[in-house]
Amino acid sequence: MSEFSTRAVHADRYVSDEPDVGAPIRVSTTFEEGAQWRYRRTSHPTTERLEAVLGSLDGGHAVCYSSGMAAAAGVLDVVQPKRVSLPDDVYHGVRQLVDKRAADGHLSIVPPDELKPGDLWWLESPSNPKCRITDLVRVASEANPRGVVTVCDATFATPALIQPLALGIDIVMHSTTKAISGHSDALGGVLVAADEDLADDLREMRTLTGAVPGSLDVWLSLRGVRTLELRVMRASESALEIAQWFQERDIRTWYPGLDDAQGHTIAAEQMRAYGSMLSFDLGDADTASRFVKSLQVFTNATSLGGVESLAEHRIKSDPTIDPGLVRLSIGIEDSGDLIADLSRALASAAAIYGANGRQTPEG
Ligand code: PLP
Repeated sequence: MSEFSTRAVHADRYVSDEPDVGAPIRVSTTFEEGAQWRYRRTSHPTTERLEAVLGSLDGGHAVCYSSGMAAAAGVLDVVQPKRVSLPDDVYHGVRQLVDKRAADGHLSIVPPDELKPGDLWWLESPSNPKCRITDLVRVASEANPRGVVTVCDATFATPALIQPLALGIDIVMHSTTKAISGHSDALGGVLVAADEDLADDLREMRTLTGAVPGSLDVWLSLRGVRTLELRVMRASESALEIAQWFQERDIRTWYPGLDDAQGHTIAAEQMRAYGSMLSFDLGDADTASRFVKSLQVFTNATSLGGVESLAEHRIKSDPTIDPGLVRLSIGIEDSGDLIADLSRALASAAAIYGANGRQTPEG
């Protein structure tokens, strides 16, 4: 079909012959015998429209879930790996889920070279929160001949910036809660499989576990995905500017667009832009906490990918992370206003705590 931005707007047209220009929100749980759909837990018109768009954008077969974590659990339930390999920096919820399955004796966590056929190599690129880049072509070329299943959580990048299936990965996962819906008002997840039979297995398991998204959430995500590319490209431009601004101030910054960032060259090859997420280190928990509380344009909140910029003192969500790490999700506001806000908050945090994190007499 046509180019990315056109598919984001039109790829679901074939799902039904509804004449509505704006997709209708369909709430019925059951359908009259003989209709295209039967029961919401099995299939649903609004969900199918979203799946048609997301499948088209990632170049595979999409299955939508009630959350990103439900999608992650869907992978484990269908692949049923004996061994799983995970990167060091990975969304803490996924880490906890895999740890729990390991503690319950369902699988063991191993380094990639110990994976056997049917095992799972979980990837996340860029990773949350340190934006580490994985060379997906290299991983696919190592995993595929060994029969190891690869999944890439590409929530930070979105399909607007990376196409893992085209690079040889088996399944791409997104929390649609984030940039795909894009307005901090819908929860959801999606798996897009290169192989149609695998997608059918995922869908069958989703019907059994009932991890289907609600009508309002899929409708909001469908509405949001229409503008995904515009929002992500704009936010990526601002994020690069902001990451460079931090780096110029000698603040340790994690952003794949920086010339000296881990994976910068790979990111330049496999991504269209570097994304809307960055993290930096203010050295200690007090300074970081003071900083996020001083912001006025950024909202001090967890989550990411919305039109509004967010700042999070990450240790509040992930107790294992560096105590001074602040994670930013850049929205679509004016980058000058965002930098002015960061500058004010930095001055305010530094005035109280000092650059080395020690409290000054005034503080
Ligand atoms: N993957 C990543 C990279 C995330 O950042 C998140 C949530 O923050 C998830 C998965 C889980 O998504 P959800 O909150 O929709 O379950």
